[in-house]
Amino acid sequence: LVPRLRPFTATIFAEMTALAVKHNAVNLGQGFPDTDGPAGMLEAAKNALFGGANQYPPGPGRPELRAAIARHRLRYGTEYDPDTEILVTAGATEAITATLIALTERGDEVIVVEPYYDSYAAAVAMAGAERRVIGLVENPDGRLELDLDALRAAITPRTRAVLLNSPHNPTGTVFTRGQLEAVAALCVAHDLIAITDEVYEHLVFDGAEHVPLATLPGMRERTVSISSAGKTFNCTGWKIGWVCSTPELVAAVKAAKQFITFVSGGPLQPAVAYALDNELEWVEGLRTSLQDKRDRLSAGLADAGFEVRPSEGTYFVCVDVRPLGFTDAAELAWELPERVGVAAVPVKVFTDHPEEWKHLLRFAFCKRNEVIDEAVKRLRSLV
Ligand code: PMP
Ligand code: GLN
Repeated sequence: LVPRLRPFTATIFAEMTALAVKHNAVNLGQGFPDTDGPAGMLEAAKNALFGGANQYPPGPGRPELRAAIARHRLRYGTEYDPDTEILVTAGATEAITATLIALTERGDEVIVVEPYYDSYAAAVAMAGAERRVIGLVENPDGRLELDLDALRAAITPRTRAVLLNSPHNPTGTVFTRGQLEAVAALCVAHDLIAITDEVYEHLVFDGAEHVPLATLPGMRERTVSISSAGKTFNCTGWKIGWVCSTPELVAAVKAAKQFITFVSGGPLQPAVAYALDNELEWVEGLRTSLQDKRDRLSAGLADAGFEVRPSEGTYFVCVDVRPLGFTDAAELAWELPERVGVAAVPVKVFTDHPEEWKHLLRFAFCKRNEVIDEAVKRLRSLV
């Protein structure tokens, strides 16, 4: 393996899921739901499978899916031309990697916010660029926020792009409109590209608002907006994602994408189109049920002795492990499956500054209530 990819040999999700399987643990590590998406969407996939949609779809994605993505994006007030401004990808993961490969090169810097989703660092490295990491900071009421001073300070003449994820994995924080306006102003002032990972766009709680950066002044023409069907429709294995941006930026991403996977998910694409057009009510039910699950797991984790951090969106809630006498959540995460039969993911693996983040452990609550309850019961035996 070439030196620049050596730090990325095994993803934490594969490692923790393997450990969970080995010890028959309740897996609240890797974030994936344990129920299926809307029946109408599954039916549409079945019909496409048996209806002959089994050859290569068109390079940019099937037209009905691009049209549905464009209609979906209208909910935020942004218009995209399905023919030139939308590209279907193999999940958000390919969208992010292809975007970085297409738009950055050796010597370019990409600003990444830590903790960051694990593929970001690997994707920046594959592109040959360099990551400049800034941290989230805790404001006085305990919310994690973007560190705008750090962002300002991280911008250099070599900065090409800012990669942002909100709703944020692993912390569950949702960036506020005010903060995003400040990011937008910096991007415009320094002529930066913004790459936004919005895979949890529908999964926000307690009235929190997801604000796509592309909707802010000056950002439509410099933002590559990325999302995917996996989290919205409980189909993380389908890997149908998309990019919305300008014709120039989409053409660039497509140039890279066509030599990574070319195309993928033929018969799943019409089903996702169907879901985007017809199943947003189902998604609203998912959102409210996830909010209840967040509360259920958070209460259980507090009962088990952890200090629970607020989660405003996503599948995840983080806890501070120090009240239970641990200093390093990674050590606890490695022994947890065998010791009590629960798997979780340490936050420090998503950072360049593990010392600052080592007290946090991430739990996924996108599970059936009885699974959450069983995990909590097992975790209670820690004290
Ligand atoms: N970004 C974030 C923040 C994620 O949590 C995930 C994982 N689901 C992805 C991207 C990858 O999305 P996909 O499965 O669509 O590739
Ligand atoms: N996005 C999921 C998580 O954060 C896992 C995705 C993966 O396994 N690569 O848990």
